[in-house]
Formats: sequence, structure tokens, C-alpha cells
Amino acid sequence: MKIIKHIDEMKNLSLTLQKAGKTVSFVPTMGALHDGHISLLKIAKQKADKAIMSIFVNPTQFGPKEDFSKYPRPFEQDCEIAEKNGCDFMFAPISEEMYPPHYNTYVSVEEITRTLCGISRPNHFRGVTTVVLKLFNIVNPQVAIFGQKDAQQVIVIKRMVQDLNLSVRIETGATIREKDGLAMSSRNKYLTSEERKAAPVIYNGLQTALELFTKGEKDTQIIRDKISQLYLASQLITPEYIEIVNMTTLQSLDQVEAPCLMAVACRTGQSGTRLIDNIVLGGSL
Ligand code: AMP
Repeated sequence: MKIIKHIDEMKNLSLTLQKAGKTVSFVPTMGALHDGHISLLKIAKQKADKAIMSIFVNPTQFGPKEDFSKYPRPFEQDCEIAEKNGCDFMFAPISEEMYPPHYNTYVSVEEITRTLCGISRPNHFRGVTTVVLKLFNIVNPQVAIFGQKDAQQVIVIKRMVQDLNLSVRIETGATIREKDGLAMSSRNKYLTSEERKAAPVIYNGLQTALELFTKGEKDTQIIRDKISQLYLASQLITPEYIEIVNMTTLQSLDQVEAPCLMAVACRTGQSGTRLIDNIVLGGSL
């Protein structure tokens, strides 16, 4: 696996691959790789001749009080993991090249970034879409793979691709979970051992919602209240939002209209870690 740190080098490589008639798939990440990231890499390998992964802890998607500086950066270990799992090229750009002095351009998807995670993270998606569009322009992939774990992110990126007539195809990989159901996340490392024990309640809540929906419950308030009670009973998990929304507009629904997205964000009481998860009721992303 070749590691590429400079934008020019990455652009030259993508041009060379294109000229050689090779297709390229792309998995953007912030590193601290786990099996969720690897599952996306495996999809990428099936979709094109060459699989490129990026690791870039993107400063513009973190709020001023968020965990940018403490975000884990085990770069050498990540490269070993990526290489072992068949990654052809690792693009790890330098922050000063991505955002040089006088940098002044951002890409904003509008309404759908103001709901769900956008409420507590107002500039987050602007940072995500900006960096993802930059990465698409540098890597020039035919297909890019994102995880359902960050469902709003997938929906926002698909919106950007459609609205800006980008040529890249967006594929979604299923959420990979720990044995007890907790969605894998680089942020799970922040959890105290007590919080880690309590955290599976987040997915249990989503499973309870799915059961209610399967039994015919359509009232979203009833479903949301039930999940809220479960979370609050765990003592260590405080819900930030529990929402059932339209998959295109991300607006809240009073009645379940399948397929729709049930998305939750929680904060843990001891370490203050923010965890998100979701399921699709009656369909897929
Ligand atoms: P991150 O490094 O957290 O920015 O994530 C990079 C990509 O991996 C994003 O497309 C995420 O949605 C995806 N991802 C993160 N966690 C998981 C997971 N548990 N299962 C599947 N994909 C994931």
C-alpha cells in the first residue's frame, strides 16, 4: 500500500489510473480504524480496480468545544490495518495543504443539515461537505462508500452529489456493531467502563422501536417516548434527540411512513461522549 501525503501527488496518481483505464473506489475516514471502516474498504474493493482510503481529521467539521485535538490519531497502526485489508493507496493529506492560509470556500447543504445532529453541531455538515467535495476533486473516484452509522451524513452527501451534478456514485455500507449491539465508533474509546456497559441500550432502544413498528405502531410520539424511557432508565445515557424522520427531507413525522429514518443521539454522563445510531423502518438507506 502506497501512502500519499501531498495533494499534487494524489491528483497525479488519479490521472495516471484514469489514463490506464482503472476504476477507483474511495473510502474517506478520520482514522482510528475499526471494523466499520474495514467493512467499507471491503465494499470498495469489490466496486473498482483500485481502492483508495483517506485519513484526515478534518478541523472544519469540529465545533470549538468539540474533540478535535483529542481525537485519536494512531496513524501507523491504521496504515497496517488498511494494508492488511487490501487498501491500494492511503491518502493522508497535510492540514496546511487542505486549508492553506486565506482558505475561504465552503460548500453548504441547506435545510437537511439543520435538523438532527445539525441542531447541536451547527457547522459540522458544512465542514463535512466541504472536505468531502475537496477529497472527491483530488481523488476523482467513480464510487465512494459511506457508513449508515452516520445516516444524516450519507443523506447530506447524496444530496450534494445530486444537486451539484457530481459524477461519483455514493454507496452505503451497513453499520458494524460490537457483539452487544453498540455501533462501532472511534469515539467509543472515550467511554468509561461503566458507560461502555450501559451503551448497548442505545441500539436496544432502536430494536424496541423496530418491534413496535413491526407490531403496527404508527404513532411516532409513542415510539419515541418508549425509547426515551429506556435511555433515561439507564442513568448513564441522556438522549439529545430521538427522531423519526422522512428520509429525503429529514423532517419529523407524526406517523411512521415507511421507509423512514429513526435516528438517535445520546450523551454519556461521565465522559460526556456523544454517540449516534439509527435504523431504517421499513426499508434501507
Ligand atoms: P469516521 O472515521 O468516523 O469519519 O468514519 C468514516 C466512515 O466510516 C464514514 O462513512 C462512517 O459512516 C463510517 N463508519 C463509522 N463507523 C461505522 C460503523 N460502525 N459501521 C459502518 N461504517 C462506519
